Amino acid sequence: MHPSSRVADISLSLTLALDARAKALAAEGRDIVNMSVGEPDFDAPAVVQEAACKAVRGGKVRYTPAAGTASLRKAIAEHVSKTRGVSFSADEITVAHSCKHALSGAMLSLCEPGDEVLMLLPAWVSYVEIARIAGAVPVGAPPRADCGPNFAAIEKCITPRTRGVLLNSPNNPTGYVWTRAEIEELGRIAERHDLWILSDEIYRRLIYEGEKDTSPVSISPALRARTVIVDGASKSYAMTGYRIGFVAAPRDIASGVERLHSHLTGCPNAVSQDAYEAGLRSEPVEIAKMVEEFGQRRKFLLAELGDMGLRTPWPRGAFYAFPDVSPWLDERGSGGFCEDLLEQQGLALVPGSAFGVDTHVRLSYALSLDKIKIATQRLRKFLAQNAKSPASAKR
Ligand code: PLP
Repeated sequence: MHPSSRVADISLSLTLALDARAKALAAEGRDIVNMSVGEPDFDAPAVVQEAACKAVRGGKVRYTPAAGTASLRKAIAEHVSKTRGVSFSADEITVAHSCKHALSGAMLSLCEPGDEVLMLLPAWVSYVEIARIAGAVPVGAPPRADCGPNFAAIEKCITPRTRGVLLNSPNNPTGYVWTRAEIEELGRIAERHDLWILSDEIYRRLIYEGEKDTSPVSISPALRARTVIVDGASKSYAMTGYRIGFVAAPRDIASGVERLHSHLTGCPNAVSQDAYEAGLRSEPVEIAKMVEEFGQRRKFLLAELGDMGLRTPWPRGAFYAFPDVSPWLDERGSGGFCEDLLEQQGLALVPGSAFGVDTHVRLSYALSLDKIKIATQRLRKFLAQNAKSPASAKR
């Protein structure tokens, strides 16, 4: 028996694999600081926890409709309408097990075999694999030097087979937040070439410099009609293990995802649906506190990285920094850098190669300030001991 060709080439998510490796080393007694992990180190808000317990105790643990409970779909529709400033109805919402699950359902509903889908590099690890699973061909468009969108490069990647583009703002791994003007420009490209936009808005609540997040759906009715939003509870409500997310899309696509999921998973987790609804309806105070705390850590980390001489695109959102480590790389690229760093200093980072940019590494600051301090000391020591070029040796 062999695995099918569809799954034979799929790699295990590198971020999850690295997280597992760091945890395994820690379990063996090694002193590891794990900055590979992309999950808030906060508890879910109290109201969420209470709703989950109440759902379990109250017996609300049965199958729900495939697209989610009517009340959660309504709550999400109201939430999306309010936060994106455009009206969405409950039948344009399909609840999923997570944002990742929403994304795979959306991709399977949008792609024909052989369709090309643009990945704006650096792009989150799972986009490429999910596109492949959907039979599509991922095509990477390189970024500007500051990791923002490079529209000339995007245009160059478009062929008669291009059908869609994946947008992720704030971005994992750079923390880059697209401006409204940039989203408008992407929208013009999408309209000119008749592309859909799959807008992954999972980090939209984590923005630190007072900007408003912009979704393509907010730009114009024409863009709303060609945009599929995926979002969820993991990052903004610190609900990673609850596994709950959604697709907000024109009815045909939302219902396509519903029909697909009705066979693949039946329905989203009933307990998590109630918990998420409680979070959405009450705007818990814990969220603002969490964002404030991430903002403090971001400033500290970026100041440290700058002091080490690392060029880092300034992250205005999410909880990652993505410094350029090219002066320290050998022929093994960012993967070798991360292996050595873990081995020598017990610090786990994610190589930029996982995001299609091999000159950088990703640090997550979703861990306490004390741990970030230890991590930066270790990174500083590593850079000093591993300088590869005379220019970097001076740093
Ligand atoms: N999209 C991006 C850009 C992410 O970074 C992640 C998680 O790391 C996800 C989606 C997945 O979110 P979820 O936990 O809801 O599946």
